[in-house]
Amino acid sequence: GLQLGPEHVEEDVKTSTHELAAETEWRFEVPFSSNIEIKLIRGTAEIFGTEIPIGHAYSFSGYKGAIWTWYGCTIEVKGIPSVDYTSEETPMGTYTNAHFALQRLRGQAQEQNSSGPRVLIVGPDDAGKTTLIKMLTSYGQRLGERVTVVNMNPKEGLLSLPGTLTAATFSTILDVEDGWGSSPTTGPSGVPVKVPLVYYLGLEHPEQNTKLYKKIVSRMALAVNSRLSESDQCKSSGCIIDTPGSISTTAPYELIQHIVAEFSVNVIISLGSERLYSDLVKKFETERSKSSTAEKITVIKLAKSGGVVDRDANYMKEVRHDQVKRYFYGEPKRPLSPYTMTVDFDQLQIYKLPEQDNLNLSFMPVGYEGDLNKPILEKQAITPLLTNAVAAILHARLNDSVEDMVISTVMGFVYILEVDEKKKKVKLLAPIMGRLPARPMVTSSFPEVILNT
Ligand code: ADP
Repeated sequence: GLQLGPEHVEEDVKTSTHELAAETEWRFEVPFSSNIEIKLIRGTAEIFGTEIPIGHAYSFSGYKGAIWTWYGCTIEVKGIPSVDYTSEETPMGTYTNAHFALQRLRGQAQEQNSSGPRVLIVGPDDAGKTTLIKMLTSYGQRLGERVTVVNMNPKEGLLSLPGTLTAATFSTILDVEDGWGSSPTTGPSGVPVKVPLVYYLGLEHPEQNTKLYKKIVSRMALAVNSRLSESDQCKSSGCIIDTPGSISTTAPYELIQHIVAEFSVNVIISLGSERLYSDLVKKFETERSKSSTAEKITVIKLAKSGGVVDRDANYMKEVRHDQVKRYFYGEPKRPLSPYTMTVDFDQLQIYKLPEQDNLNLSFMPVGYEGDLNKPILEKQAITPLLTNAVAAILHARLNDSVEDMVISTVMGFVYILEVDEKKKKVKLLAPIMGRLPARPMVTSSFPEVILNT
């Protein structure tokens, strides 16, 4: 039959141009089902802190974002966004002030050969926390900083899959098309200085198992501190910690307290919540000033941008599906060919979180620490129920205790395609070719993703 070549399709795509005045932003949304291309054709512009060069076409699908300009610009847009408008009211001025405040602390740290700022960002879901961190990281990077970003929000991955907690040091510009990226193997831009540190929580909310979450926070803090101390530059640039909205919702903010203590946080930014700000000032600034030994913690508040979009449960599901898919198949511009392997049941040692510790958040009493008599991980029988599960391969050894396993870093992930109980074989999808390492794996029902392979 007659087939239209790609050239024909392109001709049909609607192109529009937008003139942006100085200090305004063009906000847009693109569903996962479509795609737009944005090109800067005059002036200067940035996407969440990352400058975009003139003439480069950026492609967006399943994306909500904004093009910001300090001095004015013209952009060309190919395709039709589901939402688009220009806004003159943004909190960019206060965000850049926050950046300069951090730069002053970094400067002091460099002079005194001490640690740079350890910044915690808190606030409700969809307050713009991750976006603010992208901006602060990019602005720092432009001035030669090597900022370490710590993601303590398992809902969305940072250079890894949802369900993980990660840390990565950035020295090159961030990838604006896919934010941080879901896999460190996929991109030349936004590539961290070193392989990211990845721990596996396997839950959507920390409150589903605060005992495990706290353990990983403590372990991550140790690992991050040791990485920062390896380089003077990383040490003075400091770290910025992203958090899930849930830990900011109810006093006494036990998990915030834990992160602050373990990471020796000295700057807390409360984004988009006056109430939280005031509670945290009381908790951290006022309490501390009574003690002469404790290091001072500065709590600041920043307003939420009017551009931040609420992402409902369905959209977040799509985001996670996209992250898992990108991990195995790469991105359109950098496709990967995942590898299928078949292994025997006895080559696999799979664990899971005990049932009770993996409950729905709404049924959990506040401060639930899990059943103390239960081991932190349980052996998982290999059954067809594991089909479509994502499994984290740990760096731990097969005979390590489960207590050691949960605080060991993740090597990578496999996706379980098929379980054949008769032949006692499991078919797995792996992002790269190679033998399956003889290491313990952990699996969970989060993120629930079905890849159409
Ligand atoms: P949080 O980390 O607090 O949950 P995010 O930073 O992830 O919030 O922001 C929520 C969504 O809003 C994201 O999809 C982000 O890209 C989008 N967003 C943030 N700031 C803007 C803006 N100024 N214009 C348009 N979209 C934005």
